[in-house]
Amino acid sequence: MSGMTGGVDWTGKCKKCTSFERFLTKMTFHIFIIEPAFERWPMEKLKALVDHELCHIQRNTGMVITDPNTGRILKKEWADKDDPDSWHIREHDVEEFSDIIHRHGLWEHGIEKFAEAVREAEYQMTIYDAEGEREMKLVK
Ligand SMILES: [Zn+2]
Repeated sequence: MSGMTGGVDWTGKCKKCTSFERFLTKMTFHIFIIEPAFERWPMEKLKALVDHELCHIQRNTGMVITDPNTGRILKKEWADKDDPDSWHIREHDVEEFSDIIHRHGLWEHGIEKFAEAVREAEYQMTIYDAEGEREMKLVK
C-alpha cells in the first residue's frame, strides 16, 4: 500500500527493544502504527491491527515438569515476566502469498484452520503484515 502511505511499505510493526532502548524508555516492546492508519482507519480495523501486533509478543516457557514414567507434562510454567530475555517476537501462524490463495484457494491445512477462525469472526478482515511485505485480504 505504498501509494496511500507515502512510500512506507508497512502499516504496523512490533519490535523488541534493545537494551539501550529499554534503558531510555523503560519499555520491552514498541508497537508502531503509521499515522494515516492511526488517524483515518475505522476503530474496528485499528483494533484488529493493534491486536495483530500484540500477538507478536510472546513469553517463553519456563520450567516444564514431566512425569518420568509417561513423559506427560505435569506442570508448565512461564518464564519470569520481569526478565526482558523471557520475551520474544512470535512469527505468524500462517503465511501465504495472496496470489496463491487467489489461484488455489485455501489449499494448506494451516490456512484452512486460519480461514475457519476468520469465518467465525462476523466481519471481513484485512490483515496487514507487521513487516509490511504482504497484505492478505480474506473474504468470507
Ligand atoms: Zn504480523
